[in-house]
Parts: sequence; C-alpha cells; structure tokens
Amino acid sequence: MIIDHQYNIGHICTTTQCENGLGDKVAMRWLSPHLEQCDYTFSDLDRHSARFANVLRKLDIKPGDVFFTFLPRMPEQFFAFLGALKLQAIVGTLFSNFGEEAILDRVGDAGARVIITKKGFLKKISRIRDRLPALRFIIVVDADDHVSADILSYQRLMDEASDEFITARTPPETPSVLHYTSGSTGKPKGVLHAHRSILMQRSTTESILGLTPDDIFWCTADQGWVTGTSYGIIGPWSMGVTQVHFGGGYNAEEWFRILQDQKISVWYSAPTALRMLMREDAELYARFDLASLRHICSVGEPLNPEVIHWARRTIGKEIYDTWFQTETGAIMIANRPGLEIRPGSMGLPAAGIEPAIIADDGTIILDQTPGNLCLKVGWPSMFTTYLNNSSVYDSRMKAGYYYTGDTACRDADGYYWFQGRSDDVINTAGHLISPFEIESTLIEVPEVAEAGVIGAPDELLYEKVIAFVSLHRQATFSRELELKIRLHVTNKLSSVATPHEIICVDSVPKNKSGKIMRRVLKARYLGTDAGDISTLED
Ligand code: AMP
Repeated sequence: MIIDHQYNIGHICTTTQCENGLGDKVAMRWLSPHLEQCDYTFSDLDRHSARFANVLRKLDIKPGDVFFTFLPRMPEQFFAFLGALKLQAIVGTLFSNFGEEAILDRVGDAGARVIITKKGFLKKISRIRDRLPALRFIIVVDADDHVSADILSYQRLMDEASDEFITARTPPETPSVLHYTSGSTGKPKGVLHAHRSILMQRSTTESILGLTPDDIFWCTADQGWVTGTSYGIIGPWSMGVTQVHFGGGYNAEEWFRILQDQKISVWYSAPTALRMLMREDAELYARFDLASLRHICSVGEPLNPEVIHWARRTIGKEIYDTWFQTETGAIMIANRPGLEIRPGSMGLPAAGIEPAIIADDGTIILDQTPGNLCLKVGWPSMFTTYLNNSSVYDSRMKAGYYYTGDTACRDADGYYWFQGRSDDVINTAGHLISPFEIESTLIEVPEVAEAGVIGAPDELLYEKVIAFVSLHRQATFSRELELKIRLHVTNKLSSVATPHEIICVDSVPKNKSGKIMRRVLKARYLGTDAGDISTLED
C-alpha cells in the first residue's frame, strides 16, 4: 500500500486508488436525509479533495496548521478532510451536535486557523469568535457568495481552485488527525495522530471488519468521533471499498431499507443503536431481505450478550464486538469472522497488539482478576501526544505500557472482558462525556451553587447522565429551573451531555480538599454502599 514512502492518508484514499485502476469505481454512495442518492467515484474524491487542498493553500494554510470541520454528515465533510490531509494540515473534526463551549475548548486549544461549517452553525461560532484569536477564516458550505473578508463561500473558493494537486511525500510521523476526548478532570484533550495510522486502519479493516474490495460497507458513526474517521473514511477507502454514507439519523425502517436496498455486506454500528433496533416490532425485520449482509460489527460500548442472541435469532446475523479508543486510532481487541464468539467478551487482540492487565501497583496480572487494561506501546496507529498536554500523556505511559483508562480481565484462552472505566468518565450511547465539563457548565446557571455529575446504568444507553445540584439560598427548584438547566447544557456542550435527571440536594458531598465525591453520589443514587467516606468534608 505504501509506495515511494508516501504515507499520506488523503493521497492513499484517493490518488492511489485511481492509480490502481479504481477511478471509475463508486467510492461513496451518498444518501441524503431524505434518501436521495448521489454517487462519487474515487476519481471524484480525488478531484474534490485536490481542489480543497488548493483552497486551503490559497488561504495560506501550511503543513502542520490546524483545520477543523464542523459539519453534519455531508459530502463536503469528506472532501475537506481528505484535501486538508493532502496538504499535510492537521484535521480536527467536531461533532455536529456540539454547543459553543465545546467548540471553543477544542478550536481554541488547537489554535485552529480555518474552520469549515454551514450557515446554520455560524451563530454558534460567531458567539465565541472573539475568543479564538488564531482563527482566520470560516468557510461556509452553503453560502453562494463570500459573506465577508473572512467568512467565505465554499462553492466560490472551489470554483476558483484548480483540481491539480501533487501531494508532497509525507513521512509516517507527519501529524494528521486530531480528535478531542473527555477525561474525568480538566478540559477535553486533543489526541493527535500521525499519517502512519493508515497502516493499522487498513489492516484491521481487512482482518477484523472482514472487508474485501467488493464489499459495500456502511459505518453509522459520526465523523466527529474516531470511528467515523478511522473506519468511516480511512480504512475502507485505503483498500478501495465502496462506502454508503447516510445523512439522516436513527430510524429503524430507513436503516433496514438502506441495508436491503444498498446491499450492504458489512455494517459497523454501536450497541445503543442495535439495542434500539431490538426494541422495534419483530414484524419490521421480517419485511426486509438482508441476504447481502454478511455480518455486523459493533463498537463504542459493551455489547450485551442479549443483542448478539437477538441478531442470531431474528435476522440470522452475527455481531462482532470490537474495542478501541480515540488514542489507539484503530481496533485493538476484537471478535471477528472465523473466531469463536464468547458473548459479552471483546474478543482477542488484533495482530501485533500486546494488551496486559496491570494492577494499580504495576504488577502484570496473569490470572482472571480484573485490572487496568493496558497496551504495550508502539502499535502503528498509536497517538503521538495530547496536544499542549504532554504531562497527561506521560502520566498514561508507565514501564512501556499505555494505560487506557478502562478496566478488564482476560480469561484462560486470552479473551478480554470489559469491566468498566477506572475513572469517572461517562459513556452514554457510545459518547465519552466528562462529568467535570458538565459540572462546570451547570454552575454557570445563576441559581446553581454546586454540582456533581455521575453516570448511572441504563438499559438502552449503557449509562445515563445524572446531575446533583445545590442551589443558592434565594433560588427554588422548579420544573422551569430544571428546563433552564437542561437547555443551558445542551447549548453550551451538546444534547448528549444533557442530564437525564437533575436532583436537587442541600449540598454536594466533597472531600476535605474540596474534590467532589462522585463515588458517594453514585452510591446514593443506586442505593449501594459508598465505601470509605472518612475523607468526606464535615
Ligand atoms: P472513544 O475514545 O470516545 O472512542 O471511547 C473509547 C472508550 O469507549 C473505551 O475506552 C471504552 O471505555 C469504550 N468502548 C469502546 N469500545 C468498547 C467495547 N467494545 N466494549 C466496551 N467499551 C468500549
């Protein structure tokens, strides 16, 4: 796949495919939210991304500069992503649901110079624009003409750009994709990858997702998250596979129609979506012919055994659970075709990956006791750093292992079983959410004095967000205040961070150094024992 030491992701996913004779093959079948269809060949992808690389170059974007996409799923997202990589810019992708504070934290931290968005999202950006001093241009995909000297029309820029672009030879360590991930403390951290990740994204697309060049693949992940770029763009296109991308959201009937009509052969989705499908009337699946679908893969949260049994029983398909995270860039542990599935287990490591279960004192656990899930450093798609935060990076690396933040155990045959997180990060519907970020946003509401946020088990979402708030003396808790708090979190962060329940308490438990004791809140919520509370503030 790597020719002449050229590791450039944008180049390999487009130009190389054309050089391999796939120029006329459909790379992307685009389905609008209303299911209108538009096909783009590899040669179309190559031309559009080359033009976009020229657009950025004209705006004086240099290799290493940061560029962000803030778009719903739409074809321009893919052209911009690949074009910016061709130019060797660093590409960050923002989840289209993000509110202004979430955008500010990411675009501001990265010092991004250009962002591409759509008219409807401009208001969010304009509210924080004066706090983004490095941001020079905003490109608007649906503006017919330039709006001002620095708010520019995508169409005009593309019309004026050439579609000739020679991608410079890109060494493996050249920075490429930037995704922000939430921790239990502090602001989200920018996980920076390098072009070499394509090696592992491609090999796992083949060996774990089981794709062959003739497949038609559909990955439902948003491009704002790592699955949406590693497997919704890079892996499949690096091996010339046709991908279907759908601009609409969850709708069981439409999803089954897409699987049937588009003859999807491999489908990559998430447990929450699969659990939602499971709840639909059984009569629904009977109406569709899924003969083309070979198997389903799943990622993002634990896959319950019931979902695997349901898929076998009702649609006669196997679901392969896969595990990875933003920092790993590609699948590390997984079930896959040809391997016995142990329902509830994440499977076996991918080729070349050496996980270990390590106790808090640093000893490697060899029996089936749970511990920290770690990975021996040096896999090809390993992130290079947390942008502007090398101390956190260093703290996650110990004795040659990267600590993933998850806990797991390994059975006698080497299968890994997910146990949970070793920190307070909440996983709701496959989105990692920081309790700290939500707490900080909650106390911006004038009536709220203190806030503590936890994740509680949920049958559909895996975890749901529960907020405990104490109010200032003059304030009273009411339905209106609850709505106001919810709306504030939705606008500032995103709807996935919005608490499912807001519980008013006299005070939020803290330890003697003032740290919120989320463990105590969780025990209170679940009616379980809070363990040692000797450090609780009086
Ligand atoms: P992210 O970095 O946002 O992609 O989230 C990665 C995290 O999601 C992992 O560290 C896990 O906590 C969780 N996760 C991803 N895949 C799985 C899986 N197959 N089973 C259980 N948890 C998963």
